[in-house]
Amino acid sequence: MMIHLPHDDSECGWYQALAPRTACPTLHGECQADYVVVGAGFAGLAIARRLAEQAPEARIALLDAQCVGQGASGRNSGFVIDLPHKFALEHPDPAHKQKILGLNRFAIARLERLIENYAIECQWSATGKYQGAVGERGLAYLEHFESLMRDLGEPWHSVDGQQLASVLGTHYYQRAIYTPGCYLMQPAALVCGMADALPENVTLYENSAVRSLNRHGKNWTLYTDRGSVSAPTLLLGTSIFTREFGWLKNRLLPVMTFASWTRPLSDRELQRYGGQFNWGLTPADHAGTTLRITQDRRIMIRNTYKYVPRYGSSVRDDVRQHIRRDHRHAFETRYPELAEVPFSHTWGGTYAMSRNFTNFFGKLDEGVYACACDNGVGAAWGTVSGTMLADLALGQESTLLADIQAVTGMPSRNPPEPLLGLGVRSRIRLARWQSRGEL
Ligand SMILES: Cc1cc2nc3c(=O)[nH]c(=O)nc-3n(C[C@H](O)[C@H](O)[C@H](O)COP(=O)(O)OP(=O)(O)OC[C@H]3O[C@@H](n4cnc5c(N)ncnc54)[C@H](O)[C@@H]3O)c2cc1C
Repeated sequence: MMIHLPHDDSECGWYQALAPRTACPTLHGECQADYVVVGAGFAGLAIARRLAEQAPEARIALLDAQCVGQGASGRNSGFVIDLPHKFALEHPDPAHKQKILGLNRFAIARLERLIENYAIECQWSATGKYQGAVGERGLAYLEHFESLMRDLGEPWHSVDGQQLASVLGTHYYQRAIYTPGCYLMQPAALVCGMADALPENVTLYENSAVRSLNRHGKNWTLYTDRGSVSAPTLLLGTSIFTREFGWLKNRLLPVMTFASWTRPLSDRELQRYGGQFNWGLTPADHAGTTLRITQDRRIMIRNTYKYVPRYGSSVRDDVRQHIRRDHRHAFETRYPELAEVPFSHTWGGTYAMSRNFTNFFGKLDEGVYACACDNGVGAAWGTVSGTMLADLALGQESTLLADIQAVTGMPSRNPPEPLLGLGVRSRIRLARWQSRGEL
């Protein structure tokens, strides 16, 4: 079997903003472990940590093809979201939504404890989140969102355009709904910090791409360029790349989205900006623009989705430049008085969606477990699903495990190409056109 490997661009602002970090050694020679975990993003790090905590005698090997922080977990927009997202929020069963809420809040509490215990500097803050609307369509979405929030029984409040301008430093938005339970963070700093604080019985191998695997007797053996590791239990935190290992092959959809940010604003530029610090806004109309200002004074724009069947490679530079121009337009429309502030980075990242918006969690084969397909909100979800996946593999029951099993399922089967590509691309194009007011 030939495994396509991740190859993310080296332009991720979050990663570039970190102090240089010494990567853990690559895997050399043959080794044996009790558990082998692949993928050191939110999911894989959570799996490895929980296994180590619950089975302190066990030897756990954690492998990633890249350096920690280079994958999607280090290049997202840094929203750690408590509320069920988009389609999950529209689920007809109130108990389903309460379970997701409880699971996400477990993840937030777990991340917060780790950040405190290991003094991880990652701009972690309880900011809440604005969902901002422009135009009739966006405003209608906000009304719908209000009714969903009433059903959920969670706190929120409406913020009018004037109040919003004093926070965001832009009059672009007409109205927003503020919900208090979201946290913001610096994603690359958080995952690198968690990787550097793994328990002693976890051995992390970076730059150690798994190129093939097979089963000998009770053991799974994974092969990298310079070594191999065997273990009776394999746990995959590999998101879209789970397909490459031979499971969920035609059930996951590889999607990329992109972000750009400015260099830190100078004091003078800050005065012109006139807004507050450290807030995050997601679009009411879902294909619109996510906006953030970081604690180190950078304004970040995220938008654009691409269906990427060849997800093993990053997009071409000219495509990234084109996206950067779109980001620039979004930035200058919101902040014309900052038009001379350049972007310092533009980057993209890949994640997994499914056509029925269902997350996979559970057993795939004898001794093989995975959590994959978070539909684009993997910071909280990767953390809780990774933690619970370790419990499942260890045979430890809990209410949370029962809850995650109740809200997950099987991603639906994809039609064959070229039908799939045509369908997904036209849906993305339609959503982009419909959300154009919030781009
Ligand atoms: C621009 C952008 C903005 C986003 N914003 C948000 C946000 O604000 N909030 C949020 O919650 N989510 C957001 N997301 C989604 C989020 O980043 C993902 O859902 C999340 O990172 C998934 O985590 P994971 O650990 O499951 O997978 P990943 O982070 O994708 O980790 C999988 C790991 O597996 C490794 N791997 C794959 N194949 C192999 C192999 N053969 N051998 C060894 N290792 C391998 C990869 O290198 C990678 O590190 C965003 C995504 C992008 C791209």
